[in-house]
Amino acid sequence: MNKKRNLTKYLLCGAVVLLILASAAFCGMARVGGGSSVFSFLRSPRYQDDWRLVLVNGDCALPKSFAPPLLTLTNGERVDERIYPDLQRMFDDARAAGLSPFVRAGYRSTEDQERIMENRVDALLREGWPEKAARKEARRTVARPGYSEHQLGLAVDVNAHTSEDEWRLYEWLSANAWRYGFILRYPQGAEAVTGIDYEPWHYRYVGPDAARAIRETGGTLEEYLGVA
Ligand SMILES: [Zn+2]
Repeated sequence: MNKKRNLTKYLLCGAVVLLILASAAFCGMARVGGGSSVFSFLRSPRYQDDWRLVLVNGDCALPKSFAPPLLTLTNGERVDERIYPDLQRMFDDARAAGLSPFVRAGYRSTEDQERIMENRVDALLREGWPEKAARKEARRTVARPGYSEHQLGLAVDVNAHTSEDEWRLYEWLSANAWRYGFILRYPQGAEAVTGIDYEPWHYRYVGPDAARAIRETGGTLEEYLGVA
């Protein structure tokens, strides 16, 4: 009897360890460097060490001590300096097409993301939501600190200066952003894969090759990286 109980205990512990290792491998696969995982031999060399393809979503947290090289835009928003030339080119061409894009939100630190989450929870509490339900509801639209793509410096929320421009701008971006290495990160109908509601304004830099491939398949970053 005792032996049987011990065996069950060992099997349960083994299953837990395997689950932990599997989730580390899943997220590590698409991360820059990826740290030293026992599964490193399984990682595709295509994604390894490519800063443009780091995956951050509800399951994959920002790599520890992540600090992108930042550049401050004229309106005070910041982005990874390596995406700036392509971002500027995209905006120049959008402006030439009669649009008025600007970056409403770029890079966010963990503290920024914490503040955004707390503000959302506070707003819901003021609406009369019970605390626990408010936190759950907030997580539907606001990423937990450490799990927001904005913390990479590779994501931008693009808005137009005039509201009538907004939908024209979103249309233009969805047709053209890939040419500059950006993808619509949270497409309509992909909520089950990305875990985030459709956001026509949120663009993510992945580089021209990945952006072209993702556009051709009509998929998501998760699908491109083979982790969906
Ligand atoms: Zn965003």
